[in-house]
Amino acid sequence: MAKANVLNDIDTGPLGERMKALVAELYPICRSITGDGVRETLHRIGERIPLSITEIPTGTPLLDWTAPKEWNIRGGYIEGPDGTRVVDFADHNLHVLGYSVPVDTTLPLEELKQHCYTRPEDPETIPYRTSYYKEQWGFCLAHNVLERFPEGIYRAVIDSELKDGALTYGECVLPGPGDEEVLISAHVCHPSLANDNLSGIALAVALAEQLRDIDRRYTYRFVFAPGTIGAIAWLAKNRDRVDRLRHGLVLACVGDAGELSYKRTREGYAAIDRAVELIFEETGAPHAVLGFSPYGYDERQYNSPGFKLPVGCFMRSGPGGYAEYHSSNDNLDIVQPEYLADSLEKLLRVVAVLEGNAAYVNTAPYGEPQLGRRGLYGAVGGQTDTKIFELAMLWVLNYSDGEHDLITIAEGSGIPFAVIREAADKLLEAGLLAGDDQEVAAAPVAADVEGGDDADFWDEFIEGSTEVDEEDVFKDFA
Ligand SMILES: [Zn+2]
Repeated sequence: MAKANVLNDIDTGPLGERMKALVAELYPICRSITGDGVRETLHRIGERIPLSITEIPTGTPLLDWTAPKEWNIRGGYIEGPDGTRVVDFADHNLHVLGYSVPVDTTLPLEELKQHCYTRPEDPETIPYRTSYYKEQWGFCLAHNVLERFPEGIYRAVIDSELKDGALTYGECVLPGPGDEEVLISAHVCHPSLANDNLSGIALAVALAEQLRDIDRRYTYRFVFAPGTIGAIAWLAKNRDRVDRLRHGLVLACVGDAGELSYKRTREGYAAIDRAVELIFEETGAPHAVLGFSPYGYDERQYNSPGFKLPVGCFMRSGPGGYAEYHSSNDNLDIVQPEYLADSLEKLLRVVAVLEGNAAYVNTAPYGEPQLGRRGLYGAVGGQTDTKIFELAMLWVLNYSDGEHDLITIAEGSGIPFAVIREAADKLLEAGLLAGDDQEVAAAPVAADVEGGDDADFWDEFIEGSTEVDEEDVFKDFA
């Protein structure tokens, strides 16, 4: 199978279209934190990647929570005084307050208004509102529409069901050779909202499709679960095995035109933090990096102090970061293939870093080892420029002391991680690097000195024939 480095070369352009198609397919489904909308969504995901489904019965204790009653909806509408339907769930599934209890009643406008939710600041859009834990009923509609309602008696009908059932989540596991795992998590509880979070679901599916045929170092566990309660349920069910988790990402809001963004883990300097930030810098993509806060998506649960899992959040605009957020304007227009493709391209590079990162030990650390004698002078790694590749080998040799990993060396040298990784592979082949658990050779007593080409290499290096700005490089290491 292909090595993880090929992840850097995948043309994600056509995959952007494929992701957008999945977003469009899932968009009409009315999802919530439980119910058939979640099941249907997981079923569609399962048509693309292998998925196992977990059903947790209502009332099951889940950490400090309890699995809620299951909610399903068939329809809902408001009938005006003249008998015409003025709001209809059939037109948009955001029209019914999520988790509304069933109702069929007549009431005057003033009373009806107490059950209506609008966004006065954005009067043309339908807001997205839910009431999971307080039993009530309601409608969401454009403020302008509500303003035009005449006085009179209205009929409100919600044909829903709230009863004992189950909470559902799905998992796709791509096994690696050992126990170590990478968690990719996306929430599947929002109804017709495209960026938040059908884009995250589509990105996770695309990543799984690409990783399926890679020679993986880690087991990849993709969790598709309702927000908050789903992540809590997954943590409750996996409490005794989460210590296998080495890296993790929540994927959300990754299909809009906004710049890439990343929210760090609670610790703030986990390998996943360093990998994402390295790729953002390396690719020159406009981006923002945010410190951890206990607000946002399911990284809150994974980073809770009892678990402290190294899970960051990979986004573009992020929650509340775009005008269409949590409204009917978060529709198929704002999620575009080019942005999905860009998110996937960066994510694949991040995964290549996770797969390739390691700390080695230089087995010939006394003076520089002679590269020419070992056939490494003039060696070419992939399509990399020879000089950069040689420079990468020198960086790896110098900092491979068992403490500096390849991410650190890429950060410090300004040389792309993929080149640093290839240089390390060449040095491993030549026996100049060992795993950090292996013995380092003692200082050589009598060096085997003979002429080589290395001197030429240094001449050129000193002349500044590389693109690396050394001042920057050393500043980072200071
Ligand atoms: Zn949301």
